[in-house]
Amino acid sequence: MPSYRIPNDTRVRDSLVRVFSTRPVVESQRRLKALVEKDLKGDERYRVGEPRLRVLAIESGLVDLEIHTRDTTEMRSLVKCPVCGNRLKKVRNMTVFGGTVTLGYRCERCKYWTGLKRRVPTRYVFTRRS
Ligand SMILES: [Zn+2]
Repeated sequence: MPSYRIPNDTRVRDSLVRVFSTRPVVESQRRLKALVEKDLKGDERYRVGEPRLRVLAIESGLVDLEIHTRDTTEMRSLVKCPVCGNRLKKVRNMTVFGGTVTLGYRCERCKYWTGLKRRVPTRYVFTRRS
């Protein structure tokens, strides 16, 4: 069994800088994981989890994230962003009766949004910021 090491955040961030210095777009999270693990590979092999990598990429400020989603009929309230883990903001509208109604949720960090019928993330495209 080959063994893998888990890179710390700094190593992953440095790797992201190298990966995006050679290409403007990475078309999926799986592809980004493969590129980072290849970049980190030396005498030892590294593994980085896809959700962790996505959050580090978002936090790095290096990339813009394009979130592809699939519509569902699932209606459930959401607290945390399914993309980056940030706390979601409710999108509200005034009603004619003077109250408010929740229309959906949005994330101010990664720009994920959903209506009450949940949009489930299916794919991520990472584009280097110019
Ligand atoms: Zn988010």
